[in-house]
Amino acid sequence: MCGIIGVVQKRGDVAPFLHQALKRLEYRGYDSVGVTTISEGKLYMKKEKGKIEEVHRKLNLDDMPGSIGIGHTRWATHGIPSMLNSHPHFDCNNEISVVHNGVIDNFLELRTELRALGHKLKSETDTEVIPHLIEDYMKDGMDLLQAVKETTKRIEGTYAIVVMSTKENPNRIVCTRDGNPLVIGRKENVSYVSSDIPAFLPMTNDMILLLDGEIASLSTDEVRIEKLSDESEVKRESIKISWTADQAQKSGYPHFMLKEIHEQPEAIRNTLRLRDDVIKEAANIIHSSERVFMLAMGTSGHAAQAGQHMFASIAGVLPIVELASDFSDTVYGTLTEKDCIIAITQSGETTDTISAVKYAKEFGVKIVAITNVVGSSITRYADYTVLTQAGPEIGVAATKTFMVQLTSLALLALKIGELTKFVKPSIIKAKREFLERMPDIVSETISRNEELARRLAGQMYDKPSLLFLGRGISIATAEEGALKLKEIAYNHAEAYSAGESKHGPIALVQEGYPVIFVAPHDETRSRMIGNIMEMKARGGYTISVILKDDKELTGLSDYVFTIPNQVEAEFSTMAFIVPLQLFSYYMALRKGFDPDKPRNLAKSVTVL
Ligand code: GLU
Repeated sequence: MCGIIGVVQKRGDVAPFLHQALKRLEYRGYDSVGVTTISEGKLYMKKEKGKIEEVHRKLNLDDMPGSIGIGHTRWATHGIPSMLNSHPHFDCNNEISVVHNGVIDNFLELRTELRALGHKLKSETDTEVIPHLIEDYMKDGMDLLQAVKETTKRIEGTYAIVVMSTKENPNRIVCTRDGNPLVIGRKENVSYVSSDIPAFLPMTNDMILLLDGEIASLSTDEVRIEKLSDESEVKRESIKISWTADQAQKSGYPHFMLKEIHEQPEAIRNTLRLRDDVIKEAANIIHSSERVFMLAMGTSGHAAQAGQHMFASIAGVLPIVELASDFSDTVYGTLTEKDCIIAITQSGETTDTISAVKYAKEFGVKIVAITNVVGSSITRYADYTVLTQAGPEIGVAATKTFMVQLTSLALLALKIGELTKFVKPSIIKAKREFLERMPDIVSETISRNEELARRLAGQMYDKPSLLFLGRGISIATAEEGALKLKEIAYNHAEAYSAGESKHGPIALVQEGYPVIFVAPHDETRSRMIGNIMEMKARGGYTISVILKDDKELTGLSDYVFTIPNQVEAEFSTMAFIVPLQLFSYYMALRKGFDPDKPRNLAKSVTVL
């Protein structure tokens, strides 16, 4: 999420550097840009919604005085992209300037408290409480470093924060982090801090890591790091970075897609931290509706299919899942104001989904949107929006945004389940606790299957066609696995219900034909065994995604991917999709294709 840069140097204006550094962070995804500098005790600020070069044409980002400055590319989480919501944010007197990456969970309480103390907060962001808290502590006589330390005791959530103040002499930048990245760069007479190394890589390859729970004070002469817990000094040597800028943008991964697959545990964790009242509000709308539709396209459509199972089994609510593109042709005007639609779109701009929502709104249908992008078009049509917390996704083939769609659907199913009492409260509680374990399970699933996926790709890359089979919720997993393979490796891949497979698709199977089975240890397992036998009997090459230690299925399969733990049936897609994402990725690589930029596909589909 977002890009942060800060620099303090002995002389010369920093603005042109800040501008270029922000451009080197553009790959992270953003909607607004802003910069502040300090010169002769006065703060200069330029910020606006839009792309860096558009904003530069309008405001001239290079023309700002001062040898200290901070800059930010915002990826909105709280408040639409707008000039006022763009970072940096300030205190009441424009003396303290803050950029922030992350989410302050308790900002509502803090905002109320600060307003009661007379602070004037201008934006809708969670971030703005930070400069005002710092202002309060500095009023009590603290210096910037001490005031930031005190502020970290008040804020809950995840953050990387970079701050400067006109009151500091000589100039310095204070930065701290908990859960979001910050790296420090150092060269003679200059200190840098950024969300990521490429920002300052052309200037220095001397980097000092800052860890969660640490605070750093940066001046032209030195970087001093302390632990927040006991204020003890941390002595850390700098490391020499040998990465190219391109490698650094991908944190050393060869592609964004692989990086994003590895970011999935973190994305789930962040989404699980969604405020309970957000989920409750959406759950109330859904619960009070007569009919519930889930509309989506592509990968989001597979999240909807899995979501249908979660809703049915946990909450006793069976949503009607439809492709948004076909919705108006399917419902034939049967909609009423008692219906509700859960519209799922990663970008919030999917035209098919927005058109379906617009159509339904004419009938008074209520809309709950699930999207990853604040202020996106779908949020304007929705009565209520659940914002998934994957951060920007750069790879065109969705991975971590799929994972957070599943996470938020699981949260909704559990909340609606509390209302419908379809299952016992103790079961809801146990499932909710289990969901908290999913980040670790997904993480281990990645590590135990990555090498296997690469190896299998070496055997399968020239197969013209592959079949993916599952039952129940695993049909959604199989469909998503097949879609990934089509999208980036261009193999023909078809997903079917394993039950349906003998009613036609089995005719395709002959010696060596690859069939991939998604076979979790749930009530479908024994029937899946039958399907595996059928395919084996016809010479099919059987690849199964199964629970570790499932000896029987291991024995029946030519190749297995394994999941480390038994997973609650409703959440199985979250684990079982991971080996298939990795398999597609390595298939694309083996075939010499760029998995980040598949042919004919766009990240968000904005045509009908
Ligand atoms: N939560 C903050 C906002 O919405 C920071 C977003 C970011 O990380 O860019 O402004």
